[in-house]
Amino acid sequence: MNLQTVASSGSGETTSLPSAWTQESALSLFESPLNDLLFQAQTVHRRHFDANKIQASALLNVKTGGCSEDCAYCSQSIHHGVELERESLLDIAEVTKAARQAKDEGATRFCMGAAWRSPNASQMDLIAAMIGAVKEEGMEACVTLGMLNDGQAERLKEAGLDYYNHNIDTSEDFYGKIISTRSFDDRLDTLARVREAGINVCAGGIIGMGEARADRVGMLLTLASLPEPPESVPINLLIPIAGTPLENAAPPDIFEIVRTIAAARIMMPASYVRLSAGRESMSDELHALCFMAGANSMFIGDKLLTAANPAGAHDRDLLERLGLSLEADEGE
Ligand code: SF4
Repeated sequence: MNLQTVASSGSGETTSLPSAWTQESALSLFESPLNDLLFQAQTVHRRHFDANKIQASALLNVKTGGCSEDCAYCSQSIHHGVELERESLLDIAEVTKAARQAKDEGATRFCMGAAWRSPNASQMDLIAAMIGAVKEEGMEACVTLGMLNDGQAERLKEAGLDYYNHNIDTSEDFYGKIISTRSFDDRLDTLARVREAGINVCAGGIIGMGEARADRVGMLLTLASLPEPPESVPINLLIPIAGTPLENAAPPDIFEIVRTIAAARIMMPASYVRLSAGRESMSDELHALCFMAGANSMFIGDKLLTAANPAGAHDRDLLERLGLSLEADEGE
């Protein structure tokens, strides 16, 4: 096995990590003593990033509700009967206004999400215009539009898209318990199309859906084993929404969250690891542990798709207390 030396353990011994992960080696990493895991994650993190900088993204739902997919965690699926006001695609002026506000708050990337299975031709035209509007504001543009068909990734690339988000959500083994309207392979197919079109990949998953530790590891293993790992890895904590099949899901042990972040950092050392949905239920202390474990990106703004997110003032205060700053603040 090809090994790279990354850190010394608490006993002073050198620890080597595999460059090609297996379920067994990734699980062994995930289960190491927390101090060792955090130390390794910090060591890897500092090799690739400024450990005290956080990248901030903002997320806007550009089309809400009425989605034909049946993701068990989602309020926007037509399968779950969650009461949600459906909205058609936003217009460009609304997108520009939201992007400007996000930039003022310190976001460098503006992500736009649409609740549907896959975009049609006229929706693609509107999305391309939205991407142009975001780029004009001097921000990176990201979209999450579900499955892409022939030529659509190339069209997005031409429009100036920087990142495409397409989460694999969980392990291949657990996937069928969460979504039945598409397969894990469908997901990987769209990720391959995005990569082939030359767009940066954003792909992560969700913790707290009732998955086992082996599923958390399996999800990271799939991401880390892609031909090129995603540039951006969002780790979401489930927000149980009344009316969805996961409304009563038990919250995971908080250290599973920290371990997932740390393992993601070590297995995908050059990727941005993002704290995404679920931050509102996370304490300041848990945020700090996640940053120590190698999370170096987060969503800012008071809303994430249809869910609440911590207010900007609280985030700013927390970062200041931790001696962290946003990448957008560089040079101030
Ligand atoms: S997560 Fe996305 S694809 Fe799944 S139901 Fe919700 S909006 Fe549709």
